[in-house]
Amino acid sequence: VRNRIIAIGVGSNLGSPINNLRDSLFLLKKQFKVLKVSGIYESDALTPHGAPEEWNKKFLNAAVLIEISGSLDPFEILKILKKIEKTMGRQEDARWSPRIIDLDILFWNDSDLKSELLCVPHQDLYNRPFALLPLLEIWNRQEVLQDRKITWAEEWVDKKEQSILRSKKYIWPQMMGVLNLTPDSFSDGGLNLNEERLAENLLRMQNDGAEIFDFGAESTRPNAIPVSDETELKRLSKAIQLFYELKIDAKISIDCRKAEILSALAEKFDFEFINDVEGFQKDEMVNFAKQGTHKLIVMHSLSVPPRRDLVLPNSTDPVEQIINWWNLKRNRLIEIGIDSSRLILDPGIGFGKSPLQNLYLLKNVNRMISLENNLLLGYSRKSVFELFGNREAALRDEETAVVTSFISKLPISILRVHDVAAQKAAWIGGGYFEH
Ligand code: ADP
Ligand code: MG
Repeated sequence: VRNRIIAIGVGSNLGSPINNLRDSLFLLKKQFKVLKVSGIYESDALTPHGAPEEWNKKFLNAAVLIEISGSLDPFEILKILKKIEKTMGRQEDARWSPRIIDLDILFWNDSDLKSELLCVPHQDLYNRPFALLPLLEIWNRQEVLQDRKITWAEEWVDKKEQSILRSKKYIWPQMMGVLNLTPDSFSDGGLNLNEERLAENLLRMQNDGAEIFDFGAESTRPNAIPVSDETELKRLSKAIQLFYELKIDAKISIDCRKAEILSALAEKFDFEFINDVEGFQKDEMVNFAKQGTHKLIVMHSLSVPPRRDLVLPNSTDPVEQIINWWNLKRNRLIEIGIDSSRLILDPGIGFGKSPLQNLYLLKNVNRMISLENNLLLGYSRKSVFELFGNREAALRDEETAVVTSFISKLPISILRVHDVAAQKAAWIGGGYFEH
């Protein structure tokens, strides 16, 4: 198996480099199993003497560890990488000129190759800190360096005057800020019903780095007060209207399990995600989803609202139960004609699981990561943290951060959180404490 593992370098300095890295990872994930992702490094572009000034644009670089299936040889891998570059709009460009995306094979412990088309390890690996440093995060140091004495790389980072910066930003996940538009949500009931407060929260979350806003106007907590369709639609419309007026730079997700409401909203607004806590169980939801191009967050639950006495059977591994459920669900949605790239798995922490089952799922998130899945996790402030102590839901951001930190090396697509700043810090910080 070991010789099937390869390190790919990803780099970009055109358009929005962070989004380009993310997109390239998304495409890599479609072809290979992504095992690990390094932090992101920022550095000045290498340009030849006399190059145009506009070539001098900062690069973001990272390294990605992939596992390949089958018997692809290095040249076939290179071909796939070139194809991804092309898909992303890379032009035939002059050497050293800015690029949307550059995908290189950095390292392959089984391949020592020197041909005109391809050198593995990459010919410049040992004199480019922006390639070597991320690689050292994801690959054994001795194997990469062998008996080379390379001290410059780390020194380079430590010297402030040098251009390369270890930013320790991570490509995954996108932060999704929770916006409850209800009087009785478990975590922050009522805060956003006042328009001024909602505006403040929208702006603060944007500032904290939320890239997706999840608007929900029906509380799904146990014993929630039922809400009429009319009220739910009105709350959502008003909030999205405000989102538009404030020109918030983020994507919209609608946390809703009613097709009529979504359909009414779609006439007035653009939104990117549908977040269905019932996992697209209702035919109307599937039909609505089929007509559009929204990304679909498919959550596992046993009942909505969740009942404490209705949980997964204890006889089988909860991860296995979720994966089995997902495989059936996913296949059904694909059969109906929904493209697999639109599907996002949410194991539904707090919905139909005992506290220990919730904890077990969080401890074993790595097993839910696979080539096929985009994963969303929503554990923020949930009842699982009653295992940690007896603080009320609205005060559980520290408890939430423990988990965020623990999973910070995994390629999770979206984290649904209440306190974006705290969880972002926990995620980035977790990257410094590798196991
Ligand atoms: P850059 O040097 O900026 O990566 P390109 O992506 O255009 O520029 O690479 C030029 C060529 O380098 C590729 O078309 C490829 O044939 C060759 N090459 C040699 N070794 C490698 C490698 N390890 N990974 C990717 N490309 C490589
Ligand atoms: Mg290249």
